[in-house]
Amino acid sequence: MQSELIIKLLNGGERYGILNQEFDPTSGRIDFFCTAEQNSELLDLSEICFIKFLGKPDLADSFSEDEFFEDVTTSSGDRFHLRLKKGGKRVPEGFFGYPVEIDSDFKSIFFTSTGLKKRKHEQPIGEVLSQKGLVEKAAIEEALTEQQQLRSRRVGEIIAEKAALPQDLVDQTINNVINSGRTKNKARVGDILIEARLVTRQQVEEALHEQTSGKRKRIGLILIEKGLITEDQLLTALAHKFGLQVIDLNETKISPEALKLVPRDMIERMQILPIRLLGSRLTVATSTPTDPTISENLRFVTNCQIELVCARSPQIGEKIALIFDKDDDTVEDLIDELEDLDVVVDDEPEIDRVNESDSKVINLVNKVLLDASKKGISDIHFEPGMGPLPLKIRYRKDGICYTVHQIAATYKAAVISRLKIISKLDIAEHRRPQSGKILLKQAGERIEYRIEVTPTVGGQEDAVLRVLSSSQIIPLDDLGFSVTNLKHFKELLYKPYGIILCVGPTGSGKTTCLHSALAEINTPDTKIWTAEDPVEITQEGLRQVQIHPKIGFNFEDALRSFLRADPDVIMIGEMRDPVAAKTAIGASLTGHRVFSTLHTNNAPETVIRLIEMGMDPFNFADAMLGILAQRLARRLCKKCKEPYHPKREEYNNLVEAYGAEQFKEDDLPNFSKDLTLMKPVGCDACVGQGYSGRIAVHELLVNSAEIKRAIKKNSSAEEITQLAMKNGMRNLRMDGIQKIFFGMTDLLQVNRVSS
Ligand SMILES: [Zn+2]
Repeated sequence: MQSELIIKLLNGGERYGILNQEFDPTSGRIDFFCTAEQNSELLDLSEICFIKFLGKPDLADSFSEDEFFEDVTTSSGDRFHLRLKKGGKRVPEGFFGYPVEIDSDFKSIFFTSTGLKKRKHEQPIGEVLSQKGLVEKAAIEEALTEQQQLRSRRVGEIIAEKAALPQDLVDQTINNVINSGRTKNKARVGDILIEARLVTRQQVEEALHEQTSGKRKRIGLILIEKGLITEDQLLTALAHKFGLQVIDLNETKISPEALKLVPRDMIERMQILPIRLLGSRLTVATSTPTDPTISENLRFVTNCQIELVCARSPQIGEKIALIFDKDDDTVEDLIDELEDLDVVVDDEPEIDRVNESDSKVINLVNKVLLDASKKGISDIHFEPGMGPLPLKIRYRKDGICYTVHQIAATYKAAVISRLKIISKLDIAEHRRPQSGKILLKQAGERIEYRIEVTPTVGGQEDAVLRVLSSSQIIPLDDLGFSVTNLKHFKELLYKPYGIILCVGPTGSGKTTCLHSALAEINTPDTKIWTAEDPVEITQEGLRQVQIHPKIGFNFEDALRSFLRADPDVIMIGEMRDPVAAKTAIGASLTGHRVFSTLHTNNAPETVIRLIEMGMDPFNFADAMLGILAQRLARRLCKKCKEPYHPKREEYNNLVEAYGAEQFKEDDLPNFSKDLTLMKPVGCDACVGQGYSGRIAVHELLVNSAEIKRAIKKNSSAEEITQLAMKNGMRNLRMDGIQKIFFGMTDLLQVNRVSS
């Protein structure tokens, strides 16, 4: 017989047709002949709300004690009162319901998981009536048997007849039971907390007011955020009220058998965790025991008796994330999952599905953090838009910022809260900036992030993360030094004493460069102390100290301590003030090698600045070994850069910028028809940018007898520059132009860093 059906689509549309092939929900599709279009169609269940199979009710598998009634509401707004079976095959795609009335026009309805909005489970009908004391159990059984024989009458009807009760009374009882399901268990969290004397009624009313003013957060959460109760107090009160046990999930073994019984999407959507299965008793952890739908849905899906226990919601979220965290999900996959979640919003006001302990939010945040570290991103910017605008995630790589992800507005607050939680910041503070640290462990690797949360207009908060472990130690040889500069710089590192300075603006790679230098001389026969703020790169063999200016532990304090701690080499992260600078110079004059950085533009200017800061010119002239100014220019992408022949004019400009005399002296290429430079193109590897990675551009001033004399005479920066150039120093622009001729970068990038 041809099976006719009506399909209700999620978008509200309807299809009428005849089944082509037996419907198997696990295939995820339905194959039918659409009568209106006169063609066969394959529809994906994800587009469907429900499928109604038309025809006379098939009562062959009729009423039994293993059945119960349920009210099903779909997202299309349709409501059904149906019979459901306890046993049978369970599939995550959805479930079947059967008509209660024998004269209904359909055999069954299949509800898809996506189209389901709400379902209300009822006790088996026989059980209800016997509990009410209306009929003897035997009478029900008899009725059921008889009904199986008759197969054409409602069970209520038969019971009424058998027990000699008025039909009205039986119907009314059944209705009462059905309706009572809607109001029972509606214990309000607020009332429970008042009863437990944790909060006052006024506080709850204020929180309720806040809830109705558009925030849609759970009352409990609002009270926690206001600092009135703690999460533990909330949970204990709820557990006490419902006579449930509170457990610590970190101390609990989770049985894989129990886990297998409940589909993943249900676990994630309801934020519950099945932990134990004993016979047909399934123990499930929840942080919202007030939600009556949890037990009901679980009982239906698992066919088990459900025993609830309470656990803290962040713990549940973290465990779920841990269990289901699949490495092959990309950030985009996770964002897609977030948007899917929006379809199944429960309309219970006190249930705010989107909070920071939602495993999807946890997964997403973890993934973004790991993703950034893997891709060599230096900074991650979380920028929530105003009102309904999404949250943008931008990455900074090689000094350039670009947008990578957008997350629906619903998740803005949850994402920022999650970041605050993992960096141990105050989650309730929304008006002041906060800074902290995040430590992630992935496959035995530790990845550190520094986080800055800054309140922005519209009550938002931005979070910017610096990926600390992206700062790897780069061997000196790979830093992009010109052959001459590398040779001279290495020579300086092996001098017995003196000070070496690395200078440049923030983000010019000074610290990376100093660490590369230290790595060069980091051997067991050399004791190296470093004082840094923050310690961004760690190196085996170095003794590294994090300074804390807030508690009065400054660079100079560290330096004084190092001097008493038998050092060979001392690195001071930054000479922030004259005292630190004087101490550092002093240390270098007493037989130590000292490394430090300074925020100055170029090498000769650094000399003048230090003298202006009050350094003794004689001391400094003797102590200074060399000053290295550095910038980072974008490197042309090795995969796609293209050779081209420059015009004569372009070549002349480069020569002029370098200085014609030195250009010749340094043996740079003559103009010829074979001369090629490189230009950016853009490919997949460089995300179409034409550049990938960076190359350091240097200016190395090496001290000499002449320069010493000039410093002692308080000479000007120009005089020192001229002397240094005569000794072979090349300024940043010249070094950059050399790198253009080597095809590493282009004039645009050199101009950016040296003008
Ligand atoms: Zn490329």
